[in-house]
Amino acid sequence: MRAARGLRKDVVETCQLLFQRGWVANHDGNITVRLDGDRYLATPTATSKGNITEGSLIEVDRSGKRLAGTGRPFGELGLHLAVYSRRDDVGAVVHAHPPHATAIACSRGNPIERPFIAEAVVSIGAAIPKIGFAMPGAEATGALSAAVDDVDAVLLANHGAIAWGADVEQAYLRLELLEHLARIAVLAQPLGGVQPLPDSAIKSLLERRARAGLGKAADNAVRTPGQHSTTPDRATTHESASPASPDASSATLARVIREEIMRVLDQSVTK
Ligand SMILES: [Zn+2]
Repeated sequence: MRAARGLRKDVVETCQLLFQRGWVANHDGNITVRLDGDRYLATPTATSKGNITEGSLIEVDRSGKRLAGTGRPFGELGLHLAVYSRRDDVGAVVHAHPPHATAIACSRGNPIERPFIAEAVVSIGAAIPKIGFAMPGAEATGALSAAVDDVDAVLLANHGAIAWGADVEQAYLRLELLEHLARIAVLAQPLGGVQPLPDSAIKSLLERRARAGLGKAADNAVRTPGQHSTTPDRATTHESASPASPDASSATLARVIREEIMRVLDQSVTK
């Protein structure tokens, strides 16, 4: 695991990205990272993501109780903890209100639920569900828990979006992909709307997702006895595994997918 100091730096840099990209307003958005044992690094409540510093981050336990730091835990912490409780492979959770994703989250329907770009299936899963609106607390946590095993990002109805991954970079990139898909879906609306991928493509894409060590349910769906027995749930952004990896082609595939996603996102930023 990255040293605690490095993790704090990662969180602050990601907060800056959320702020600079206009994915948060006021005190919106929050980030957590799983530390050793029953400890989680978290952004404090009531602070603009543009003003978060390494020293202002707090540490909490799995019940949400503050263990270190002076700031207070944020109200949506239960959503993050629900993800960690169901996914041992997850090391970070990022929540924000990106405008296009939130526009869909606050509208009727969900044009990004069924995947229309292959990378979405590999990076996030077979669907991007919209979790029904729930007041913060146990109700919201329960609603999210049902989706956590199957996918790595969801829309939160009348609220925003949340994504998770092996580390804060991967969680952020998944949120970025979700927002990118939402923007495409909104742009496609006057053209008749996005055309989902054929169902026949989904299964093979999910197999690629599993072979790349991404996600959880997909791994279980295609794992056979003895396969991947030494690489349990290695969901990681650092897919460029060593050549000695038992599945070097998976590592290559994951790298190609990641580069493709970055290329698409770079284009969207420069245009
Ligand atoms: Zn929120």
